Amino acid sequence: MSPLPVQTGLLINGEWLQTAEKLPVMDPATFTVIAEIGNASVSDGLDAVAAAHDAFQTWSVTPARQRAEVLRKAFEIMSAEVETCARLISLENGKATRDALGEAAYAAEFFRWFSEEASRIEGDFRYAPARDKTIITDHRPIGVAYMITPWNFPAAMATRKLAPALAAGCTAVLKPASETPLTALWIAEVLLRAGAPAGVVNVITTTHTGDVSTAILGDPRIATLSFTGSTFVGKMLLKQTADRVLPSSMELGGNAPFLVLEGADVDAAVSGAMIAKMRNGGAACTAANRFYVHESVASDFSTKLESAFAGLQIGPGIDAANDLGAMVSVKERDKILELLTQAEGEGLTIAAASEAPKLGAFIAPYVVRDVLHGSTLTRNEVFGPVAPIVSFADEDEGIRMANDTEYGLISYVFAKDPGTGVKVARRMESGMVAVNRGLASDPAAPFGGMKESGLGREGGFAGIHEFLETQYFAVDL
Ligand code: NAD
Repeated sequence: MSPLPVQTGLLINGEWLQTAEKLPVMDPATFTVIAEIGNASVSDGLDAVAAAHDAFQTWSVTPARQRAEVLRKAFEIMSAEVETCARLISLENGKATRDALGEAAYAAEFFRWFSEEASRIEGDFRYAPARDKTIITDHRPIGVAYMITPWNFPAAMATRKLAPALAAGCTAVLKPASETPLTALWIAEVLLRAGAPAGVVNVITTTHTGDVSTAILGDPRIATLSFTGSTFVGKMLLKQTADRVLPSSMELGGNAPFLVLEGADVDAAVSGAMIAKMRNGGAACTAANRFYVHESVASDFSTKLESAFAGLQIGPGIDAANDLGAMVSVKERDKILELLTQAEGEGLTIAAASEAPKLGAFIAPYVVRDVLHGSTLTRNEVFGPVAPIVSFADEDEGIRMANDTEYGLISYVFAKDPGTGVKVARRMESGMVAVNRGLASDPAAPFGGMKESGLGREGGFAGIHEFLETQYFAVDL
């Protein structure tokens, strides 16, 4: 064990395995190494696949009620220890304690939701239209799932995959991001404490990501890939999975528009923007990335947003007094600064709303006014506390610009009333639309994107189907 309440080995077949090569985990607020954990080789990865494959033979036929009870217990443990989880998230990811607590509670809810779904997997019975046979449709667990998760939500991205997979009767090999592996190790231990049998959940942490993943995806014992991360890596993995025609679910990048229509309540829109933009310091796939604001309210909205940004206290996320923590790494922070430099080169005035601490991967928040649609800040997923504002005169033009992206994860619409908001929501090319609110994610709702933001849905009633295979029996009854 490290000084932190987390195991440092790989989890394979219920055992914590130490490796000779280590993976250091850094606190981005202080640049100190907070743990040294296992660094899996290709052969460790394949051992994890073998363990998951063996465990699948029993777990897939374990009564759903029993699987549900393990998940329910995991929810209870995680809820009781939400602060421990939040502390790990803040330490390795940098995010503010309030965001980390929110994430830990949200992550736990996936265990509760899918504990309820486990025993409600439906089949279907009907007569063929010609009445020559009956059609019985069954769903069965697909097999061993390989899961790859990003660094921005180290807890929720893991439970959003593990909970439905285990509910469906699948077993898992989870590979968390190497920047934030501790939370995933802690969650796996919670599942063991909740009664998950050895091999049902395996965790490999590694810096040899490409080699280990290629070997795992090429292994015929793997039945599905569940990936959350960038569209760039997602596309690369889709090419690999094509070789085996491997079912894949992809939760990829976003470039969410935030529309403020004529007549919208500006104060409500600013409050919504603070949530949609600043949760996780802007490092969320759902983060509002481009603000399209009707010209009648653009100046008022920008001024109020700037003043809300200026009021944020910036510092180590682990200190609960801070509103905005560090970015996950200097590399990620510098990517944001680089985009701002490019925007400045395009003639925009770039001025921070406040000042960030010098030590640590901190960045101040920015409101950037008078941005042109099609420029750097509207084309790229900024993944940080930057709010570019584009004003528009005509609603159709605002909607056209908002939809003008290869991404389609989420859109935000602020309108004078919900009816107008929903009318516009139906025109948005995104898998999710938040109307007059800054947050849409809910374990009971289908999360996922259109266009290059992904394939499939997580959460809701759909989430469990990513881990089920459909089989049809033609029977003369
Ligand atoms: P990333 O794509 O760089 O990494 C994601 C995961 O993929 C990590 O675990 C990483 O180690 C792994 N990976 C990287 N190269 C790989 C390879 N060659 N083979 C196999 N695995 C590989 O993304 P990131 O920077 O960690 O996360 C940020 C991105 O994730 C953003 O684009 C964000 O929008 C997206 N995201 C999407 C959702 C969603 O639900 N749609 C949720 C969170 C984050």
